[in-house]
Amino acid sequence: MTRLLIIGPPGSGKGTQAEHLARHFGVPAVSTGDIFRSNVSRQTELGNQAADYLDGGHFVPDHLTNALVQDRLLEHDVRHGFLLDGYPRTAPQATELDNMLAAQGHALDAVIELQAPDAELEERMRRRALEQGRTDDTIDVFRRRLDLYRRETHEVVSVYAGRGILVSVNGSGDPGAITGLAIAAVEQFLAAPRPPS
Ligand code: ADP
Repeated sequence: MTRLLIIGPPGSGKGTQAEHLARHFGVPAVSTGDIFRSNVSRQTELGNQAADYLDGGHFVPDHLTNALVQDRLLEHDVRHGFLLDGYPRTAPQATELDNMLAAQGHALDAVIELQAPDAELEERMRRRALEQGRTDDTIDVFRRRLDLYRRETHEVVSVYAGRGILVSVNGSGDPGAITGLAIAAVEQFLAAPRPPS
């Protein structure tokens, strides 16, 4: 019964770490970016609505994103836990997630923040652009996404810090070592006694 969320700037390795952490904690990883990309490539109605936002490095509007997550969190496989990756990215999305979970009598257990210096993020992004050819991985678009992260998503991180459920992890360096650090930090956090919320 672990409800986790991973948050970090573009290029922080969030998606990779989400996969490893989800496997370790035995919960499905739910990535809004992956769900959007899959819809774009299948040219579904949602994909067609979201495509330009993804390509331009803009946030998909909250009403589309919230509805997608709402539906996903009602699916059977996530009833005992999940690792959300890429949502919430704005303060209104964070409120919406609280409401969705509260309606099911649930709450988040921990939020993992991956931290890395801008220069390293940019370097990884250049590499990913070459390797994967993601259409939103050009340097201009990357900078826009990083700027959006600082302006909008940082606030979400602060909300969780204030709630005492933020686990910050140094996301610089070898991905395998980072996974180890993140697992240890989350396990330690989950094992520590906390006052009832
Ligand atoms: P990264 O972590 O590299 O920034 P993601 O795969 O998480 O990329 O997301 C890719 C794109 O999908 C975002 O730039 C945005 O256009 C869209 N997206 C994903 N999650 C959200 C969200 N919670 N709110 C709005 N847009 C989103």
